[in-house]
Amino acid sequence: MTASIIDGKAYAAGLRERVAREVATLKAEKGLTPGLAVVLVGDDPASQVYVRSKTRQVTEAGMAGFDHKLPGDVPEADVLALVARLNADPAVHGILVQLPLPSHIASSRVIAAIDPAKDVDGLSATNAGRLVQSTGGALDFSVACTPLGCLMLLKDSLGALAGADAVVVGRSVLVGKPMAQLLVREDCTVTVAHSRSRDLPALCRRADILVAAAGRAEMIKGDWIKPGATVIDVGITRITKPDGKQRLIGDVEFEAARMSARAITPVPGGVGPMTIACLLHNTLQAARRSVGLGPAAI
Ligand code: NDP
Repeated sequence: MTASIIDGKAYAAGLRERVAREVATLKAEKGLTPGLAVVLVGDDPASQVYVRSKTRQVTEAGMAGFDHKLPGDVPEADVLALVARLNADPAVHGILVQLPLPSHIASSRVIAAIDPAKDVDGLSATNAGRLVQSTGGALDFSVACTPLGCLMLLKDSLGALAGADAVVVGRSVLVGKPMAQLLVREDCTVTVAHSRSRDLPALCRRADILVAAAGRAEMIKGDWIKPGATVIDVGITRITKPDGKQRLIGDVEFEAARMSARAITPVPGGVGPMTIACLLHNTLQAARRSVGLGPAAI
């Protein structure tokens, strides 16, 4: 079997279009423009590229963008004061603080300061707890963007997920844990693997759905993939080739895995584009909730 490619780039483009249509409707019918504030501290080049991309996509979706760039040595108290101002600003429906923050700032304190209603990254304890407690139906709170994007791709590729054996490799707060919770919510039987797991190949071989989020280039070999499995590769490792060019590598040995899987996301062009699209999705839904509307079914 040669796996079909799950085209995250195309799905993300479609999602952004649907978000833009909903934004236009919200403006026309309620006079409401969803607003996203992005806080960037310091001058980490990767974060700057990412924030520029966010800013462009926010504008293209018809939303209002509020970018706040702070110097790398800004005191934590100033970041917290900015978050408090954004919490109080009715034009701002989503707040995203770009991580990682410089080491003198406790990201846990900054995330905890964001109003959960505006926490469009879904990283606050309140929203993470809501995910754990929710048992199904439409999500009426923000869920971390990357796992939400993975779930959208899985549902698009597979339809119903109920009863599937799902293995998530990685247990971070950003990806692995919320991914596992989302899959439990979809009635999958979920195993969470991590660096202390015994016999990772055997765990992976059980998976009808395999989500790889370890950040270890090509760690997951082709013969770890169950025939017919659906593989979502979240991992991104940047390598420099002998010719000096940069290349992104996923956690899964792509070409070998394609021989067994039924469908697989490429790197790049799989999960990556979904993250910002889901950020726009979360901001739209947060704006709708702010005026008492339920989630748009997009
Ligand atoms: P973290 O480093 O926070 O977590 C990695 C997880 O993988 C940990 O739980 C770790 O286990 C586990 N792990 C590491 N090595 C192994 C191993 N050898 N065997 C089994 N498990 C292992 O990373 P993130 O969750 O933030 O990100 C994961 C990857 O996804 C990265 O490559 C990142 O760049 C990418 N990413 C991509 C995004 C996108 O938009 N496509 C967005 C976010 C992340 P333990 O807990 O035991 O240490």
